[in-house]
Amino acid sequence: MIKGIPVSKGYAIAKAFKLTKPQIDTTKRLIMDPDLEIKRYHEAINETKKVIEKLKQKSIERFGLETSKIFDAHLMIADDPEIKTSVEAMIINEKVNLTYALHTVVNRFLMLFKDLDNEYLRERALDLKDVSERILSFALGIEEHDITDLNEEIILIGDDITPSETTQLNTKYVKGVITEQGGQTSHSAIISRLLGIPAVCGAKDILKKVKHGDEIIIDGFTGRILLHFDEETKKSFVIKREEYKHYLSTLSKLIGKPTITLDGHQTRLLANIGSPKDIDLVLEHDAEGIGLFRTELLYMDRKDFPTEDEQYEAYRHVLEAMKGKPVTIRTLDIGGDKYLPYLHLEHELNPFLGKRAIRLSLAHPKLFKVQLRALLRASVHGHLKIMIPMISTKEELLIVKKMIKEVKEELTQENIPYNSFELGVMIEVPSAVMIASSLAKEADFFSIGTNDLIQYTFAADRTNEAVSSFYQPLHPAILKMISMVVEAAKQAKIPVSVCGEMAGHKLQGLLLLGLGVDELSMTPNEILKMRRYLSQNSYQKWDKIASSVLKYESEEQVLKELKKIINQEGDALWKEHTS
Ligand code: PEP
Ligand code: MG
Repeated sequence: MIKGIPVSKGYAIAKAFKLTKPQIDTTKRLIMDPDLEIKRYHEAINETKKVIEKLKQKSIERFGLETSKIFDAHLMIADDPEIKTSVEAMIINEKVNLTYALHTVVNRFLMLFKDLDNEYLRERALDLKDVSERILSFALGIEEHDITDLNEEIILIGDDITPSETTQLNTKYVKGVITEQGGQTSHSAIISRLLGIPAVCGAKDILKKVKHGDEIIIDGFTGRILLHFDEETKKSFVIKREEYKHYLSTLSKLIGKPTITLDGHQTRLLANIGSPKDIDLVLEHDAEGIGLFRTELLYMDRKDFPTEDEQYEAYRHVLEAMKGKPVTIRTLDIGGDKYLPYLHLEHELNPFLGKRAIRLSLAHPKLFKVQLRALLRASVHGHLKIMIPMISTKEELLIVKKMIKEVKEELTQENIPYNSFELGVMIEVPSAVMIASSLAKEADFFSIGTNDLIQYTFAADRTNEAVSSFYQPLHPAILKMISMVVEAAKQAKIPVSVCGEMAGHKLQGLLLLGLGVDELSMTPNEILKMRRYLSQNSYQKWDKIASSVLKYESEEQVLKELKKIINQEGDALWKEHTS
């Protein structure tokens, strides 16, 4: 058994599917039969072309013809006569193996491209690398596992799974996710929760211990991964899985009901989404609005920036589907663990402390304006709230406001309509907490991003398993900060919500309400569970508890105190609060 960090609830029993990058051996070897080597080369090219054709068809179905054109370029590269002739000549003249010859020739081309000032050609270099690695894999008989081409249930296992890989997951077949890296708030964990796939992060050595195709069990409540088990154990997990499914189905009784605590305090439970496709989930789980639309996912998993019209359509779709309920759309949050290969960002030593989120948008004003225009145009289709990520100074907010003013003027001149909307600030950096009163004067609302607030407060990378123990949402340092932000918001008479992962955790969510937070935004799957939970708890009681725990000095002490308060009725109750 391996124990990792449980990050998405549920149970899964399925075959392990290892997502590993192939190790390509390009060592130079002398060969006896150049003709045979060239024959292998042609076969590898043909196999590669078949795979590219298949990817192209899938991409056309998913993203349309325009975005899929890149695969035509890949097909041409696979067949490029100049590369072919050079590789064949090297095999014949030097009597060397195919993988060495292809690697050497391709590297020569890559060196030529590397220093060019032309972005288009530099991109073609990446394509050349991509295609030649496919040919090399075929030539070496390396099996590459393709997650987009599944036909049986699997549990995906990787060192880390990038956000763009996670967005490609087909929930019909992917029943669980395990990563060696990451923690509660890494983006692959967040997306697993959104998709309702049980997931465990920080599972050390899982790639070494599991063979591709082994049947394994994953417990998303405890973080246990069972590698070898008997029929009896398997049966017990099948029962657990069915019971959990049943529990989820009973929640449907709460659909259409308001969210009210036992003593009548009403609040709103909102949804976090990453794409317009998630709207079905939002409606299914009866969210009372969208508290966070992470728009960067619209920019990922593609080869070029989404156009203003494409973005406008995406935002409009969400606003219309929510029929007047608030929709909070966050502007681009790229950087940290989220890359856009086509943006060609300079390498940063500490990307989470670098040009991330609003810093990046302000460094690329043209790009940012396209998003602002699309947002403002969409404002006529519903209740729009625009939210700015990672604000750390007041100046940033003022520049954003100035740019919005310019966009408004442009649209007016072009006779393009827009409506009123609210502009909010994400509080996710300690400096923003300290100047919250000043930011509150310039903002219509606050939303606390606890994932980053915890990472930046403890200076502990949220994707680094080695420091995952610093993810301490109930640490007094964090609770005090939240309390300060709430105080500043109340004084300025603006609402404050929480959209970090804390908000979707039962006990932590309740404590946030006790601290004075107005709304909670979470992965849609948790909304009905939270509605039921709040209906069983008293707001007045938690209001008092929240202020009393601020005096403690560690998360451990806070947890001990909470357990004492709750646990007058035994351990089962504590489990109910924390599950
Ligand atoms: C957060 O930081 O809490 C948040 C909601 O934003 P993200 O997880 O996308 O960084
Ligand atoms: Mg954040």
